[in-house]
Amino acid sequence: MRPPRKELYPSMIELAETTPEQSAELERRARARMLAGAALMASGVERLNSATPDEDLTAMKEAAERTREGVVQFESGVATLQALANDTAPRDIALAWFRTNMGLLPPADARNPHGFIGLTAFHYFTMLVLAVVTATLIWMNFSKMRRAQTLVARLTGGAQSAVTPAAPVVSLAQPAQVPPNATDTPSKPNSWTGLLRVARIFEETSNVRTLRLVDLTGNELPFRHLPGQFVTFTVKPIDQTIRRSYTIASSPTRRDYCEVTIKREEKGTVSSFLHHVHEGDTLQVTGPSGIFTFIGEGANSIVLISGGVGITPMMSVLRFLTDRSWAGDIFFVHGCKSDQDVIYQQELEYLQRRYPNLHLTIAANEVASAGWTHSRGSITQELLAQAVPHIQTRRIHLCGPPGMMAAMKSTLAEMGVPADQIKSEVFIGRERPVGAADGASGLSPAAPTAVPAETAAPPGVAVATFARSKRTALMPPNKTVLEAAEDIGVNIEYSCRVGVCGLCKVKLLSGAVTMDVQEGLSAQDKEDSIILACQAKSAADVSVDA
Ligand SMILES: Cc1cc2nc3c(=O)[nH]c(=O)nc-3n(C[C@H](O)[C@H](O)[C@H](O)COP(=O)(O)OP(=O)(O)OC[C@H]3O[C@@H](n4cnc5c(N)ncnc54)[C@H](O)[C@@H]3O)c2cc1C
Repeated sequence: MRPPRKELYPSMIELAETTPEQSAELERRARARMLAGAALMASGVERLNSATPDEDLTAMKEAAERTREGVVQFESGVATLQALANDTAPRDIALAWFRTNMGLLPPADARNPHGFIGLTAFHYFTMLVLAVVTATLIWMNFSKMRRAQTLVARLTGGAQSAVTPAAPVVSLAQPAQVPPNATDTPSKPNSWTGLLRVARIFEETSNVRTLRLVDLTGNELPFRHLPGQFVTFTVKPIDQTIRRSYTIASSPTRRDYCEVTIKREEKGTVSSFLHHVHEGDTLQVTGPSGIFTFIGEGANSIVLISGGVGITPMMSVLRFLTDRSWAGDIFFVHGCKSDQDVIYQQELEYLQRRYPNLHLTIAANEVASAGWTHSRGSITQELLAQAVPHIQTRRIHLCGPPGMMAAMKSTLAEMGVPADQIKSEVFIGRERPVGAADGASGLSPAAPTAVPAETAAPPGVAVATFARSKRTALMPPNKTVLEAAEDIGVNIEYSCRVGVCGLCKVKLLSGAVTMDVQEGLSAQDKEDSIILACQAKSAADVSVDA
């Protein structure tokens, strides 16, 4: 157990007796310590809850550490209050505390222990906290095992189930057997959900701002991300819950905060909402997610091409690589509407001065300022050839508005860049068509489309079985698994709905699906029969783990 923070006890050692003012001050500090300790314990347990299902051992260790630190702080506050109530001299309070922490027996108490077998109230309190944490962990483990058992039993036909597919299913590789990782959750990396506080707001341009988000208790961020990943905000701007994804523009090397940079879209629901939050507000965050990442491995140079707010993943990569003193060449090519719209301009220029391996090119279509030293116009083939020598041999990351991305891809193809050297991410998201039910938003599901498994589906209409929820829904050929789930109120997380963000990954248990876009899936996901619910359609019955 760690000793308490230094300020309280060392100062008490010097006080043989207390005046009423000193007692009041000691009491105030003890209560502050108890409050801080309780907050630490709460955040530790919360962190433990989110880390345990993913078996994230590092996070679990940190959570246990945080809880322990909270107990120590709380305990020290209680000890002080108790001693003040007993009129004990401050020096004796401090000495007693040090003895306890160093495992020394207090001379008087060793002979005359108080309480049952010599335990004090502090011991009881610590034991209570540890018992609650242990019970929570055991309960979580048991419920996980129970879910696994139920699923395995259902898949092997060993348990009665209401979820028998109405018609023979088109089989995966292993039809009526237990899939090798039937109980694995899809590889949603480290998906943490909780509240973060807006600590600082930086206005970048007239319609772009950066929110710096921090842990509520002032500790390190409760998750770890890779450069290029994004988080998803769940907000309720009016009376409907909405989710939108925003790339973490800061570097993972900064453990105390993450920053998102948001462009306010004309009539954009969530971006406008986020342009009205204030420092001190809290936001519900899920993440991190995404595979549009680069950590300096697998290539000895990198070309980062962005347009507009598509600069955010590039900035995270750049900040990470420069923080880590990566030795490879970084070609940073950014295009924007006007010289007034360049996000992070000063920081980019500063980094260019400090890192000779950073080659910066900024192109603005409209230039108003006389002091503009960068390029004018769009990112053309000529500009690229000049900015990035031997571009055909380099790994390229591309992000920007859809039009710019399409133009860039054909320019790069003309320049002889193989398509598999280009990684890209689109920022567009899509909401469900107006009038459609939205299970995730908490609106009432359109019940009539839910069918009992025994009911035969009309010809040409497949049945989607949501195995974990024990529900089935009709799924006409033009309907996705996500939409079918929403029809009956089965909750599958989602954000972009265009196959990019990967939040709606689910495991396909039986059947086969087609997906127009699969950008959100890794090679491993595909091997593990993970599908994107927002893209998956099928002409035949399917069963998924949701
Ligand atoms: C993986 C990923 C990462 C992303 N990262 C970022 C990022 O770092 N920074 C960033 O700014 N964005 C980012 N986005 C985009 C972001 O998620 C949102 O899509 C964007 O902010 C728009 O959301 P919104 O709710 O404000 O707009 P929505 O309400 O969804 O509107 C979308 C578009 O439709 C238009 N529109 C809406 N209502 C109307 C109407 N009545 N009439 C006419 N037009 C209308 C809006 O102008 C807007 O352009 C990312 C998206 C993804 C998928």
